[in-house]
Amino acid sequence: MIISVASGKGGTGKTTVAVNLALSLSNDADVQLLDCDVEEPNAYIFFNPGAENEEVKPVHRLIPEVDEEHCDYCGKCASACEYNAIVVLPGQLKVMLFPELCNGCGLCSMVCPRDAIREVPHEIGVIRRYRSDSIELIYGVLKIGEVRATPLIDRVKEELRPEKMVIIDSPPGTSCPVIAAVQDSDYCILVTEPTPFGLYDLKLAVEVLKLLKIPSGLVINKAGVGDREVYKYSEAEGIPILLEIPYSEAMARYYSEGMPIVAAMPEWKKRFADMIEEIKLKVKDKAKEK
Ligand code: SF4
Ligand code: SF4
Repeated sequence: MIISVASGKGGTGKTTVAVNLALSLSNDADVQLLDCDVEEPNAYIFFNPGAENEEVKPVHRLIPEVDEEHCDYCGKCASACEYNAIVVLPGQLKVMLFPELCNGCGLCSMVCPRDAIREVPHEIGVIRRYRSDSIELIYGVLKIGEVRATPLIDRVKEELRPEKMVIIDSPPGTSCPVIAAVQDSDYCILVTEPTPFGLYDLKLAVEVLKLLKIPSGLVINKAGVGDREVYKYSEAEGIPILLEIPYSEAMARYYSEGMPIVAAMPEWKKRFADMIEEIKLKVKDKAKEK
């Protein structure tokens, strides 16, 4: 089963929920935790793996390389590139490539009349893997300066084993990287806060999940602060509230120390485990409807 954890905005506690879910399951199931927030992966901090215990695999994608000996600076490659990733300066007899902007579509090499473009691997980041007890943590780290997170997220998801219990920590927001992360999930947990900002971003995230036809439920973090608008919205939309995590100084302190809630406050382990059981039932019911 694949359960993703997402939020319309950053800083809502999405990673906290993903990590605590994985830890709550780890006694009973073989669990994979995939941190797809490749621009700011931080689930690993809760596991404190130490670099020596991690397996690291570089990830590449193909980008063009121009052999200027064969190039006549005709500019056809630059005209074809919709991403402005290749620029030809005929006056200076120069072709400039911006790998961070290139999506590796290969069109420039197809249109080149002089066969002057070949494809070469370009490193976009790494995938790190760490195994602790029955949790396998896999996370992508996007190389600084890379603007395209989606190819690395796709590669992290290639490591996914659906026969296991898989928890995906998605990037925040509602753009392409989020869609890449949550796509194919059986269920998505949306983490939100009961504030006007939380509600605004929640509504956007719900619309994305509706388009993707992924059933969802809410975890309300910092419950007790703010107002009741998120509750009213969830009722109106028929989106279940799976769990409320109250605002608590003790939790904030444990978080700042990198300690998962379920380790510091064991009574929370059952609450997270119960939430998974509830989700399993919902997924089963959904499957029956099909
Ligand atoms: S299309 Fe080929 S020949 Fe023309 S500028 Fe680009 S690399 Fe050079
Ligand atoms: S591979 Fe595609 S995106 Fe990259 S430079 Fe060529 S045309 Fe542009």
